[in-house]
Amino acid sequence: MHHMSPDEFRRHGRAVVDWIADYWEGLQHLPVTPGREPGATAALLPDTAPETGEPFDDLLADMDRVVVPGTVHWQHPGFLGYFPMTTSGPAVLAELLAAGLNTQGMLWSTSPAAAEIEARVSDWLAELMDLPESFRGNGVIQDTASTGVLLALIAARTRAERDGAGPYVVYTSEDGNACITKAARVLGIPDAHLRRVPVAAWTRAMDPADLAARIGADRAAGLTPLAVVATVGTTATTAVDPLDAIGVICREQGVWLHVDAAYAGVAAICPEMRWIHRGLDQADSYSTNPHKWLLTGLECSLTYFADPAPLHQAMRVTAAYLHDRGEARIDYQDWQIPLGKRFRALKLWFVLRAYGREGLQRHLREGIACAEELASWIEADERFELAAPHPFGLVCFRHRAGDGAGRELLARVNADRRLFLTSTESDGRFLLRIAAGGTATTSESLKAAWQRISQTADQVTTAADPV
Ligand SMILES: *Cc1c(COP(=O)(O)O)cnc(C)c1O
Repeated sequence: MHHMSPDEFRRHGRAVVDWIADYWEGLQHLPVTPGREPGATAALLPDTAPETGEPFDDLLADMDRVVVPGTVHWQHPGFLGYFPMTTSGPAVLAELLAAGLNTQGMLWSTSPAAAEIEARVSDWLAELMDLPESFRGNGVIQDTASTGVLLALIAARTRAERDGAGPYVVYTSEDGNACITKAARVLGIPDAHLRRVPVAAWTRAMDPADLAARIGADRAAGLTPLAVVATVGTTATTAVDPLDAIGVICREQGVWLHVDAAYAGVAAICPEMRWIHRGLDQADSYSTNPHKWLLTGLECSLTYFADPAPLHQAMRVTAAYLHDRGEARIDYQDWQIPLGKRFRALKLWFVLRAYGREGLQRHLREGIACAEELASWIEADERFELAAPHPFGLVCFRHRAGDGAGRELLARVNADRRLFLTSTESDGRFLLRIAAGGTATTSESLKAAWQRISQTADQVTTAADPV
């Protein structure tokens, strides 16, 4: 049997690294979104896998022929949609190294170095973000924040079941992420028992008085309030829920508090942003995604637990083949749903070391400064108005002529394929979103993007909405 030899791997590996460097270097000249119709990429692939092996050079050549023209380029300077999914040289190279080791970290004994590095870098990040003492020593890397919410609800239910409770109700704000609905469903909590608490008009932050009233009403109706999922940086507009007031209610009511800070939490690496976590010491669990704004590439989402005991109770399994557990060790399969575990900690370790606190702060502050600059241009343009506060890297705005004009502007800007923006709704009204913070998005590239958007706005033909 012929496997790629170490010498062949050296040669092809260098070609792959060159390919990635060329891709990053030339990215700005590509359209940000593909022009292909659905099915066009699949049509380039044969119906069946090849009978005999193909040369690696042919495989790599198809990156340019098949993959790149069918790709949305999330690392492109003109990619201003959703939230940035940043990566970096150190992160990509660490992924390569982790893939080369290809360890399986379900137990400490199956990957001792991976387990201990994960525990240490989880604490490094907690220290960098000045997270509450309760979370120190209790962090774990998951694939995504969706999994973090699910684990939090599982732990909450395990804790609540001690009192023989149910049926359960979960609370989040109107703008709480869609992954909360999924997590509740997975636990058998129907959408009707997921309460969407109203938000304040401009800040879009959860109304704690309304939350308290709903919890009281549900208890009176014989339901069990299980958990509140508060958000630091909602996906729609980056609203920050008042954790201090929500935390007091959760403590009084014995309700689990999970804080979803998937995108924005890492901003707390900058001391001037620590206000976003005021009251976090009352939370039971917390998630943030270094794979969004913190340069690690997908997937790298940290979840912290103030008391991981209920999580372990729910997740710990034994089997004759899962031997060699140890009390004094971290067996990560007790902290996650799958048994198997990738060595994701390696890239976080590399990124935190390659940038250092200072480099990370500079990167985050650049994103925030870009958003501030952009917001000032929007404010100065009488055709538009800001639609929400912009404490992080995202700016939301409206076309004053109405939703129709906003929708037409978005369609025209994206049709050009040099920029990519996304939209959301707030109070039933259409908002355009521009997300800075990508590694290729600079003050200059954003200025050029805004000029393009502004010129495109001159072509909008939709009549103003009827008042
Ligand atoms: C992106 C995001 C999520 C989902 O994150 P995944 O890691 O993709 O599951 C959840 N909540 C918020 C606030 C987000 O911004």
